[in-house]
Amino acid sequence: MQNKYYLYLIISTIFLLNACNSDDEVSPSGINHIELGNPSNANTNLNADDNFLIEKPQFELSYNHSKGTANWVSWYLVNEWASGNVGRQDNFRADPDLPENWHAVDGNDYSGSGFDRGHVCPSGDRTNTTANNSATFVMTNIIPQAPDNNRGPWVDLEEFTRRILRDGKQEAYIIAGVYGEGGEGSSGNLTTIDRGNITVPSHVWKIIVVLPRGRNDVNRVNTDTRVIAVDMPNIQGIGGNSWRSYLTTVDDLEAKTGYDFLSNVPVAIQDVLEARVD
Ligand code: MN
Ligand code: MN
Repeated sequence: MQNKYYLYLIISTIFLLNACNSDDEVSPSGINHIELGNPSNANTNLNADDNFLIEKPQFELSYNHSKGTANWVSWYLVNEWASGNVGRQDNFRADPDLPENWHAVDGNDYSGSGFDRGHVCPSGDRTNTTANNSATFVMTNIIPQAPDNNRGPWVDLEEFTRRILRDGKQEAYIIAGVYGEGGEGSSGNLTTIDRGNITVPSHVWKIIVVLPRGRNDVNRVNTDTRVIAVDMPNIQGIGGNSWRSYLTTVDDLEAKTGYDFLSNVPVAIQDVLEARVD
């Protein structure tokens, strides 16, 4: 009996160690990018065409057919995804995952608009494989973004996020998107581009939830969890501004978008986290 007991202990210890070292946490198919919640209850029903869920190994998003952009894109980030040496694929293209009979924005539709083809899930967050980097260039992950915003505080926050994850000790759930209509590009103010097919958002926002590396992520979110939320105007002239000058609360973004972020986190914890400015 005694020997059997020790054998059992040894086998279960080996099993547990293996489970902890398992790399399914960084394998595209093993990730739930919306583990913390689906803020707009996006779904794959074709009638839900302004809140249509598209799930990819690299990120998930809610697509707005009328606006020609995502409402939000959500993705998991850990250093391994962003520390590869795959370069920008630059293959902006229509998203093949859109329903067949829908108008699909293609890679040239922003030409001459004065707005950048701004990534929501950044190319720089997916540099571990060519397929993963290429996935970020589908036009459902792209928004008409004021160049000074995209190349200023927006990219600075992207780089800050990758930097805090660089030592491999933390992981993040990120969700970003748009609200409002009308922005200022390098050729002036516009509400739509591409002959009205694409709505220019007035604001771009992002929420970053940072956790120590581990498993059962949603259960580990507590009132001390770091949550960074920003709300930036989609305008020119802000290139030199710090991303920190756009910090806000998740509650503020919920009021502006009508979404419920972090909805899989217990309400008592949401109440604390969503009222705090980082
Ligand atoms: Mn960008
Ligand atoms: Mn919430």
